[in-house]
Amino acid sequence: LTAPDVVVVGGGAIGLAIAWKSAARGLSVTVVDESPGQGASWIAAGLLAPITELHHGEEELFRLNLASAELYPGFVAELEEVSGMPAGYLATGMLAAARDRDENEALEDLFRLQERLGLEPQRLTGSEARRLEPALAPGVAGGILVEGDHQIDNRALLPALLEACKRTGVDFVAQRARAIECDAESVHGVILQDGTRIPTGSIVVAAGCWSNHLEGLPDEAQPPVRPVKGQLIHLRGPADHPLLRRNLRGLDVYVVPRPDGRLVIGATVEEMGFDLSVTAQAIFSLLRDAYEILPGVLELEITETIAGLRPGSPDNAPMLGESVLKGLVIATGHYRNGILLTPVTAAAIAELLTTGKSPALIEPFTPLRFVRSTEAVS
Ligand SMILES: Cc1cc2nc3c(=O)[nH]c(=O)nc-3n(C[C@H](O)[C@H](O)[C@H](O)COP(=O)(O)OP(=O)(O)OC[C@H]3O[C@@H](n4cnc5c(N)ncnc54)[C@H](O)[C@@H]3O)c2cc1C
Repeated sequence: LTAPDVVVVGGGAIGLAIAWKSAARGLSVTVVDESPGQGASWIAAGLLAPITELHHGEEELFRLNLASAELYPGFVAELEEVSGMPAGYLATGMLAAARDRDENEALEDLFRLQERLGLEPQRLTGSEARRLEPALAPGVAGGILVEGDHQIDNRALLPALLEACKRTGVDFVAQRARAIECDAESVHGVILQDGTRIPTGSIVVAAGCWSNHLEGLPDEAQPPVRPVKGQLIHLRGPADHPLLRRNLRGLDVYVVPRPDGRLVIGATVEEMGFDLSVTAQAIFSLLRDAYEILPGVLELEITETIAGLRPGSPDNAPMLGESVLKGLVIATGHYRNGILLTPVTAAAIAELLTTGKSPALIEPFTPLRFVRSTEAVS
């Protein structure tokens, strides 16, 4: 086998976008994945909502999320041009709605945080919110309208990324990677499940919540990811009478309307290891919580219930950049925002691979932050 410049292990949204952007910059790239275009990226709801999903104490991550949201329109335009396929991006805006007065106080807290960061959300009364989205429950006590939070149909995004990769000359190997071949300083190749060796001096580990399952690496080079289970429900309603025009968020649930009448309700957040079962409890709570802000969901047809595994990290932020070995690049741990973070991750890692320099934007997210903290403890 000839040695590609880069081997990307894992072909979810993150691995595929890195492969495409790196190949577009002139590198020869091989993606290793027995089922590319699936993983958590296929299951996700596709919210692109850095402002509505803002959390206290995560301002640095927020800046990365926002930077990626800003890259999205250009990323999608280029992707659609290269692939010749629709990528499913939709500038919908997003409404956060409070079921009652207590929840409205929680919204007030989010609103203040958003304002403090210089954002310009609009605070709404219950009736103003219902004027925008007439199907909201009569009891909705208030809301926040965020014009800049959008969505992408990830089940359109992934096929487009696969096609863009193929048209840009990325090679695919339909196998799992078993091990990484390395010495104490640097990586030398990837060993596949069937024992085949792909020699390379540069490896990107983008295998989602499975990213620390590769043999051969020293412990400190293993990214500390874990699976965080999420269940969601797909429904279908009439395309000509959409129940909802914008993305909708309650305290414990979100509803994402697609333009053809499909709707996604998500998602649970469960620490259950590698369990993919769909439970009655989860479906019950998701439907109940959605019903309480949008009663009309009960009229719709359920077309799918499904569970996926987010790649969680110890601080909920991704690990992006070079690890302890020369040539070993980590791009995982995107947790709840991997679809949102796809453009910025791809741009930053492609730049690192071509120039050898980590862009400043991803410096705070170096995988070394966990290696250092382990050393400090021991
Ligand atoms: C229910 C749910 C809802 C979500 N909603 C949103 C949302 O609204 N917005 C958002 O931005 N994010 C959302 N996410 C998070 C998002 O899905 C993830 O952060 C993102 O998909 C991670 O992408 P990835 O490419 O790193 O991992 P994955 O998509 O999981 O891809 C990993 C790939 O690696 C491959 N792989 C694994 N092991 C190996 C190996 N040894 N060798 C080769 N290949 C391997 C797998 O086959 C897979 O294709 C959601 C996630 C879930 C579960």
